[in-house]
Amino acid sequence: MTARAVYRHVPHTIRHVPDGGITYEAFCVTAGCYAESGPHDEREAAQDWALRHTGRTSHDLFRRVVTDHAKVTCAD
Ligand SMILES: [Zn+2]
Repeated sequence: MTARAVYRHVPHTIRHVPDGGITYEAFCVTAGCYAESGPHDEREAAQDWALRHTGRTSHDLFRRVVTDHAKVTCAD
Protein backbone atom coordinates (compact mmCIF):
# COMPACT_ATOMS: atom_id res chain seq x y z
CA MET A 1 0.00 0.00 0.00
CA THR A 2 1.33 3.41 -0.92
CA ALA A 3 0.43 6.52 0.99
CA ARG A 4 0.81 9.83 -0.65
CA ALA A 5 0.88 13.13 1.06
CA VAL A 6 0.53 16.30 -0.87
CA TYR A 7 2.12 19.34 0.60
CA ARG A 8 1.37 22.71 -0.84
CA HIS A 9 4.27 25.09 -0.66
CA VAL A 10 3.13 28.67 -0.61
CA PRO A 11 5.94 31.09 -1.36
CA HIS A 12 6.20 34.15 0.81
CA THR A 13 8.47 37.13 0.71
CA ILE A 14 9.75 39.31 3.51
CA ARG A 15 10.86 42.89 3.02
CA HIS A 16 11.50 46.09 4.87
CA VAL A 17 8.48 48.38 5.30
CA PRO A 18 8.28 51.89 6.74
CA ASP A 19 5.44 50.85 9.08
CA GLY A 20 6.66 50.90 12.64
CA GLY A 21 9.61 53.10 11.75
CA ILE A 22 13.27 52.60 12.52
CA THR A 23 14.68 52.86 16.02
CA TYR A 24 18.24 53.56 17.13
CA GLU A 25 19.64 52.48 20.51
CA ALA A 26 23.03 52.47 22.20
CA PHE A 27 24.08 50.25 25.09
CA CYS A 28 27.13 50.85 27.23
CA VAL A 29 29.20 47.66 27.32
CA THR A 30 31.67 48.69 30.02
CA ALA A 31 31.74 45.91 32.62
CA GLY A 32 29.18 46.47 35.34
CA CYS A 33 27.46 49.35 33.57
CA TYR A 34 24.06 48.59 32.14
CA ALA A 35 23.21 52.09 30.91
CA GLU A 36 21.25 52.32 27.69
CA SER A 37 19.90 55.14 25.60
CA GLY A 38 16.45 53.69 25.11
CA PRO A 39 14.90 53.65 21.63
CA HIS A 40 15.04 56.83 19.57
CA ASP A 41 13.58 57.73 16.20
CA GLU A 42 16.70 59.70 15.28
CA ARG A 43 20.20 58.24 15.01
CA GLU A 44 21.64 61.48 16.43
CA ALA A 45 19.64 61.13 19.66
CA ALA A 46 21.23 57.76 20.48
CA GLN A 47 24.67 59.09 19.53
CA ASP A 48 24.22 62.18 21.69
CA TRP A 49 23.26 59.96 24.62
CA ALA A 50 26.50 57.97 24.16
CA LEU A 51 28.59 61.14 23.99
CA ARG A 52 27.00 62.47 27.19
CA HIS A 53 27.46 59.09 28.91
CA THR A 54 31.15 59.09 28.03
CA GLY A 55 31.44 62.65 29.33
CA ARG A 56 29.95 61.63 32.68
CA THR A 57 31.61 58.24 33.11
CA SER A 58 34.56 57.89 30.69
CA HIS A 59 32.89 54.70 29.41
CA ASP A 60 33.75 54.72 25.72
CA LEU A 61 32.46 51.51 24.11
CA PHE A 62 28.85 51.07 23.03
CA ARG A 63 26.81 48.40 21.31
CA ARG A 64 24.52 50.06 18.78
CA VAL A 65 21.27 48.54 17.59
CA VAL A 66 19.20 49.68 14.63
CA THR A 67 15.78 48.09 14.39
CA ASP A 68 13.56 48.17 11.33
CA HIS A 69 10.32 46.41 10.54
CA ALA A 70 9.67 43.81 7.89
CA LYS A 71 6.42 42.47 6.48
CA VAL A 72 5.79 38.97 5.19
CA THR A 73 3.45 38.71 2.25
CA CYS A 74 2.13 35.75 0.32
CA ALA A 75 3.53 35.70 -3.21
CA ASP A 76 0.35 34.14 -4.68
ZN1 LIG B 1 28.53 53.05 31.03
